[in-house]
Amino acid sequence: MPAITEFFVRPSDSLLSVLDRLQATGKGMVLLVDETGRLVRTVTDGDIRRRLLEGVGLDSAVEDIAPRTPVVAATGTPAARLIELMDERQIDHLPLVDAAGVPVELRLRREIAAPILLSTPHIGDAEMGYVEEAFRTNWIAPLGPNVDAFEQELADEVGVPHAAAVSSGTAAIHLALRLLDVGPGDEVFCSSLTFVASANPILYQGATPVFIDSSPDTWNMSPGALMRALDERAARGRLPKAVIVVSLYGQSADMDPILAACDAHGVPVVEDAAESLGATYRGRQSGSFGRLGIFSFNGNKIITTSGGGMLVSHDTALIERARYLSTQARQPAPHYEHTEVGYNYRMSNILAGIGRGQLQVLGERIASRRRIFDLYRDLLRDVPEVEWMPEAPYGRSNRWLTCATLRSIDRAELIARLAADRIEARPVWKPMHRQPLFVNADYYRHDHDVAGDLFDRGICLPSGSNMTDDQVERVTLAIRVALG
Ligand SMILES: *Cc1c(COP(=O)(O)O)cnc(C)c1O
Repeated sequence: MPAITEFFVRPSDSLLSVLDRLQATGKGMVLLVDETGRLVRTVTDGDIRRRLLEGVGLDSAVEDIAPRTPVVAATGTPAARLIELMDERQIDHLPLVDAAGVPVELRLRREIAAPILLSTPHIGDAEMGYVEEAFRTNWIAPLGPNVDAFEQELADEVGVPHAAAVSSGTAAIHLALRLLDVGPGDEVFCSSLTFVASANPILYQGATPVFIDSSPDTWNMSPGALMRALDERAARGRLPKAVIVVSLYGQSADMDPILAACDAHGVPVVEDAAESLGATYRGRQSGSFGRLGIFSFNGNKIITTSGGGMLVSHDTALIERARYLSTQARQPAPHYEHTEVGYNYRMSNILAGIGRGQLQVLGERIASRRRIFDLYRDLLRDVPEVEWMPEAPYGRSNRWLTCATLRSIDRAELIARLAADRIEARPVWKPMHRQPLFVNADYYRHDHDVAGDLFDRGICLPSGSNMTDDQVERVTLAIRVALG
């Protein structure tokens, strides 16, 4: 969007020079302002055309066009109201003016009518080719060449030898717990600050979750709280069957101390890397550290298959058993012999085709998400109210979502103000220890309740890799207006 002053024309300007301005700015209208900078009227292509048809020359002054009271709105008017105004007056652009009537911004219907969503799918050029191939060769089943290739390509990307493509990240976590023999009477530790999908599979297995707080410097599992929880459980002679470590919003948890603590007690780690595909920890890929790692390709994740997940491991036997359990635990007999309960969890060959295309642009998607984060930070660097989620020095975040905490203003209030501007922002995940579903679960704090505090003050801003710089700027302007 050109700067607002690029749209200004003066009363004495000729029609020809106004046409020049219209051409240079390309929005079909310019703003006629007087010597004090106040808006006199808007001038469109059509106004010039009518004037010329009246018989005046191109050198005639624009001020001779009949005056017309401009339709304007005050800065800070919510987008929904701007659209109402445009509908009422049947116009597609609206100058926003300050108290003195000076235009400070031009809003176009095309821009505000489109909501800015938190994180939308971003399809590349290659996905359709793989999907068409699947149709052409009639590989529509939950197995096929795209599934095999996607597993191999994802494993190579993450630096693990084995991967099983499944129907969702949740299914992958469920399989991981099943593979680790989690069952009724067992406890499973899990990061508290996460999406419920990290913890639901603990309940599927009839086990009991114990939640672990976050560190303020990473927002991920606090190694100190984990160590205390493990020591306490060990003293009672009741160690957890597994620890689910979440890498939140694209940043790896601090895996070295976490793995050391779990190894010391012989407890296996499941890495929930649903949000952190492509992030690194000390030079290695997030999701490659645990006994098992899981990824999600849900529609809002950094790459998507519309819905899907992946289970990865360094252990061949675990992944082979995962494939078996995820295809109804069918014994290799012609009549399908069954000796234990299984699931229908495999990924379809069509969706794996989407995944293969998406994986090719993972690097670009991470670069975009990181650029969006940097742009937010730069545009709001003079706003101390907003404190950004830290990037821990041990690795590189994929910045799946741009997240921040607010120092003093009410988080819900800001989200509502942004919603009125058709901008979707959300609170940071409500921690599991505060969910009614888990009221009775034990919770180990970092020192104070860090996860609870991050939830109370935390906000996730629109961060889709297909966002334009203009959209990021629109969000930051809306934040400034809301903060006053
Ligand atoms: C999205 C997500 C999941 C679940 O993945 P699905 O593919 O939606 O089942 C699990 N854990 C976390 C942290 C997630 O963000």
